[in-house]
Order: sequence, then C-alpha cells, then structure tokens
Amino acid sequence: MRLAAILGVVAVACALPSTAGAFRLEGGRWPTRTISYYNKVPAYNWAVDTAAYAWNTSGARVQFVKSSRRDAKVLVGVRWFKVAGDAYVQRMKGRFLGAKVGIRNGQDRYTMTLVVAHELGYVLGLDHETASAQPRTRT
Ligand SMILES: [Zn+2]
Repeated sequence: MRLAAILGVVAVACALPSTAGAFRLEGGRWPTRTISYYNKVPAYNWAVDTAAYAWNTSGARVQFVKSSRRDAKVLVGVRWFKVAGDAYVQRMKGRFLGAKVGIRNGQDRYTMTLVVAHELGYVLGLDHETASAQPRTRT
C-alpha cells in the first residue's frame, strides 16, 4: 500500500467522533471518500440520515450520500436480531466493495441514530479494540 493511502486511513481513525470511541482499524478502505447509502426503512430515515450527517461532519474524511437502492454501496435495513444492529462489509484485497447494515426494529429515533452511527463505523472499516476473532458480522 502506498504511503499516501496509509496516511489517508490513519487520518480517518484519528478523526473519530468521541461517541464512536473504542474502534480500531481492521484493514481495508473504500476506494472513494464518497460512500452512497440507501435506507430500506422509511420510518428510520431521520435516524439513518442523522447518523450519516454525524460522520460527514465529524472530521473523518468521508461523505455518506443518499442514493437510489441500485446505486447504493451501503444498504440499511431491519433484521430481526437480538442485538441493536450489525454490519457486514464486503471486501476484496483490502478494497471495500459494499456493506449491509442491519438494525433492530422498535428502537426510538435517538437510540436508532446512535446504533446506525456505530454500525457506520464498521462500514468505514473500524472495529472494537477488544474484538478477538474475525467474524464477518459485527455488532
Ligand atoms: Zn459494535
């Protein structure tokens, strides 16, 4: 990996908002700074858009932008997990191709915003410092 690319990744890590804390780099990155997303759950539009906005204004050098489902790199939708949310990132040789974020129904909009913001951290390639094994799905 070229030095410029490494520095770019580090800049993202250092610019994390405090609410996203305790993440570490897991490896890989998006080929562009602009990451398109689509939310399949109209009821959570406010929460998803607010979480994206939080990242866009965090100082991290990324921009989550809304797009059509067809053009979206990140799909957000309800999944029936016991956990509040989870994220799955599709990678190929350190390059991110796409991601899916699952959220649990029935959370208020503010909790949902925090959950989605947290999951978008995984979408950016971050993970908890305490993570041990390397399962593909993170909560
Ligand atoms: Zn987590």
